[in-house]
Amino acid sequence: MLNADRTNGSYVTECRESQRRFLDRAFARLNIDSDTQQLLLAPFREMTISIPLKVEREGRETLRTFTGFRVQHNHARGPFKGGLRYHPYCSLEEIRALARLMTWKTALVDVPFGGAKGGIIFDPKDFTLDDIEVLTKRFTQKMAPLLGVHDDIIAPDMGTNPQVMAWILEEYSKDHGYTPGVVTGKPVELAGSLGRLEATGHGVAFLARKAAAELSLAIEGGRVVIQGFGNVGYHAAQALAAAGARIVSVSDSRGGIFLEKGIDIAGLRRHVDETGGLAGFPGGEAISNEALLELPCDVLIPAAIEHTIHCGNVDRIKARLIVEGANMPTTFSADEVLRERGIVVIPDLIANAGGVLTSYYEWVQNLQEFPWEFATVMHRMEQRLLESYEQVRDLAVSQGIDQRTAAYEIAIKRVSLAVRLRGF
Ligand code: NAD
Repeated sequence: MLNADRTNGSYVTECRESQRRFLDRAFARLNIDSDTQQLLLAPFREMTISIPLKVEREGRETLRTFTGFRVQHNHARGPFKGGLRYHPYCSLEEIRALARLMTWKTALVDVPFGGAKGGIIFDPKDFTLDDIEVLTKRFTQKMAPLLGVHDDIIAPDMGTNPQVMAWILEEYSKDHGYTPGVVTGKPVELAGSLGRLEATGHGVAFLARKAAAELSLAIEGGRVVIQGFGNVGYHAAQALAAAGARIVSVSDSRGGIFLEKGIDIAGLRRHVDETGGLAGFPGGEAISNEALLELPCDVLIPAAIEHTIHCGNVDRIKARLIVEGANMPTTFSADEVLRERGIVVIPDLIANAGGVLTSYYEWVQNLQEFPWEFATVMHRMEQRLLESYEQVRDLAVSQGIDQRTAAYEIAIKRVSLAVRLRGF
């Protein structure tokens, strides 16, 4: 595993306790009593399923059983909403933490959704498209009682994409009639929204530019390092390169590449599409995921997996600004050190919220049965992201706290008010 041995006990404990420690700090500052804390923390419902699949390997067919989860955390402010992750390290504990994070994120950017997350434990790279289609459709069949346009709406996350969302739409619609609003991040040809695909990465780049300007860091010619070259990482790289930034290093799960003069992002995309990976990109030096995070740079964008910035590497981070494209990339202890070292962090709750905002717009378009233009979607996403960012930044400045604590405080207040108003 990158950046740390995931079986190392102290690293595991540090990760496991991180989210709770962020929350506890915000609860204490807001004087949230322990009964309300329990209400806010407990998941509404969790479902674990097994999904059988016949897999062919070297001419032999064997039956394998995969584990899938859906955790619905809180729906006080609207239907459950959250991504579906396909990853070999996916676990119920991780999905539970990500579902909670969605509750705070939807509240922070003030969309009428709650929080949920799902996943299947497997590595899509090791399976054929046919296998992934069958797994996705069986997952949808078994989870269908939980899903619905006004109940629980799925979206893409790590390892899933518009094609996977299309299969969910197909399977769900078999029993419920054509129901595009049950899933967002669909292909545009299948009632998806223009702009949804690029929205998360564009939002990350948009806030990176905004925060950099406030710190008097020049984006034009500035050094940017991005961990993860998937949906979020690629689109953030593309948008920042278009703004004149020098993307000196990017990586995927197999490692990264480094190019001092800056990487041609469109060229790298073509290279990845043709060869299946970053390795061998002309002029690029190979670099490990660990070393990439420690490169001197103006902006570091973790856009892969959780807990890649932790107490084992935080002292060596040389970025001036960190914009969290990924969910939960920084542990609590590392976050404290970054603050002491004066490295500004734009937290996941706001930094990658362009995705859920645009998912909300897609859902609205599906309900209206009326598609919006690309410029409308992007303009609304940027406006709302900016308003939410300014609320977070202003609270942080006025209270002398970091932006993550400010973001949690705003979100927790909104969710606890909704819980109180609805009664239980
Ligand atoms: P993706 O599957 O499109 O890309 C993930 C990238 O991370 C790939 O390049 C992959 O190779 C790399 N990666 C996976 N495991 C890794 C590892 N162990 N070490 C280094 N790199 C690794 O996923 P995505 O949609 O870009 O999601 C990335 C992150 O952004 C996740 O934390 C996700 O929860 C978060 N996020 C995604 C969205 C969205 O709209 N897709 C929205 C909000 C947050």
